[in-house]
Amino acid sequence: DPRIYGIKTKIRVVPDFPKKGIMFQDITTLLLDPKAFQDTIDLFVERYRDMNISVVAGIEARGFIFGSPIALAIGAKFVPLRKPKKLPGETIFEEYELEYGSDRLEMHVEAVNPGDRALVIDDLIATGGTLCAAMNLLERVGAEVVECACVIELPELKGRERLGGKPLCVLVEYR
Ligand code: 5GP
Repeated sequence: DPRIYGIKTKIRVVPDFPKKGIMFQDITTLLLDPKAFQDTIDLFVERYRDMNISVVAGIEARGFIFGSPIALAIGAKFVPLRKPKKLPGETIFEEYELEYGSDRLEMHVEAVNPGDRALVIDDLIATGGTLCAAMNLLERVGAEVVECACVIELPELKGRERLGGKPLCVLVEYR
């Protein structure tokens, strides 16, 4: 799709952020270009609008930016998967490993029902640990994760292999 190239050129790569040796993929420059941002949303909406998705689960924080407009466009509810202690209602959590230490994602239990068909959205997949935790949250309350979607994949980190065969849709690969 010719729109992909335009999206790719708007993602800024920042060396040594947040620490030395990391090539940080910065999507804020994509958001500054309404055409490229719209194309990003449209590509996902075109893919998911006829897949009977009932819930879009966005991962804090950049998954909120992409997930919300997709949810509205396909007529699905939006559920934020949040960092610890942000959600006021009854929550469940999943812990996942980071390079140093661990982090967790939380979800409101009443937000998702058995039989919900879920799409999980984040900006980027690296090791896949974050998406894996997100899928577990949804499956624990009986939802079916139909697919995961990210704007960017870092294929060398093999995050896709951690998704247990779950389909993953990405727009841009960075090697
Ligand atoms: P993973 O759990 O797949 O190793 O890491 C993915 C998570 O880390 C995502 O939530 C993503 O937002 C964040 N992340 C890791 N590296 C980058 C990066 O280079 N750019 C951006 N925008 N996010 C990153």
